[in-house]
Amino acid sequence: MFDVIIIGGGPAACSAGVYTARKKLKTLVIAQELGGQSAVSPEVQNWLGEISISGAELSKKFVDHLRSYEGENLVIKVGVATNVKKDGDNFNVEACDGENFTGKTVLMAMGGARRKLNTKGADIFEHKGLTYCASCDGPLFSGQNVAVIGGGNAGFGTAGQLLAYCPKVTLLEMSPKFRAEEVTVEKLKENPNFEAISNIELLEIKGDPSTSSGQANFVKSLSYKNKETGEIVELPVSGIFVEIGFLPNTDMVKELVNLNPIGNIIVDHQTQRTSLEGIWAAGDCSDVKYHQNGIAAGDAIKAAEDIYEYLKSK
Ligand SMILES: Cc1cc2nc3c(=O)[nH]c(=O)nc-3n(C[C@H](O)[C@H](O)[C@H](O)COP(=O)(O)OP(=O)(O)OC[C@H]3O[C@@H](n4cnc5c(N)ncnc54)[C@H](O)[C@@H]3O)c2cc1C
Repeated sequence: MFDVIIIGGGPAACSAGVYTARKKLKTLVIAQELGGQSAVSPEVQNWLGEISISGAELSKKFVDHLRSYEGENLVIKVGVATNVKKDGDNFNVEACDGENFTGKTVLMAMGGARRKLNTKGADIFEHKGLTYCASCDGPLFSGQNVAVIGGGNAGFGTAGQLLAYCPKVTLLEMSPKFRAEEVTVEKLKENPNFEAISNIELLEIKGDPSTSSGQANFVKSLSYKNKETGEIVELPVSGIFVEIGFLPNTDMVKELVNLNPIGNIIVDHQTQRTSLEGIWAAGDCSDVKYHQNGIAAGDAIKAAEDIYEYLKSK
């Protein structure tokens, strides 16, 4: 019997695991992979204490820190949790290899993934000018012309951030109407350095030809078709920020806890408690507004503190 079962292996799960193990709660971390989403990022510049670090190195630091507590109070299992069930006052967590674990509490930290662009060239130029995170990578494009793909609130929010340091920001939306709130659209359109174009079909992400080693160079432009006029436009940009949605890893728990309409676990933002007593959620799988390493770690610490208080009061 564990005091807490943490499902996930990113910054949320790792920081919660460090806290619960230090509090001597018997902790199990079940992680499909350890390290979190930003492991693939070439450079992270906003993790406090690290002016610049590769995503891979930062992830390794998260995992090494967690593993330093492995032992009596912390068990780490690398594998996929496939189901979580209420079992009397406790919870039963099934893993894909058929193993079953019982815990008094569960912290869900399964994160998620950005919805990917499947336009020609998008896979080649990912992390080479094409990015899914303005807060993470925006400052790297200071002084350069960029495009934002996606005309919802996230797309317009990203464009707003980029306008602070990019001379020209062009937002492209596939459907005829922008999906962001009208007031946001109108406010941003007042900026002479911003252009928003709807009803387009994105055709291709282009860059320098491949080097002799077969490595693609960086984004140089994109091309799109104006669906109303049929005109094909080549837009020179060095950065492309994709904001076309986020897919949380919450399918497994959709019958267990309340989710918002886009599938994120609804939590009380003071304690990270979900709709079901004994289950907490933190990080990108929760209904947190901003997806960042520091926020995932911080919210998970909140959850760990609250789980400790909860177990102590039982
Ligand atoms: C390319 C990229 C670059 C980024 N750069 C930055 C940056 O510079 N700065 C910044 O602050 N943020 C950055 N982010 C965002 C940041 O990585 C996320 O906000 C953060 O990782 C969220 O942490 P998390 O722990 O909630 O989830 P995740 O990091 O998504 O981790 C979720 C974990 O859960 C595991 N998991 C999922 N389902 C299951 C299951 N059923 N059973 C077991 N395990 C499961 C996964 O294997 C994974 O380990 C970046 C994101 C990306 C994609």
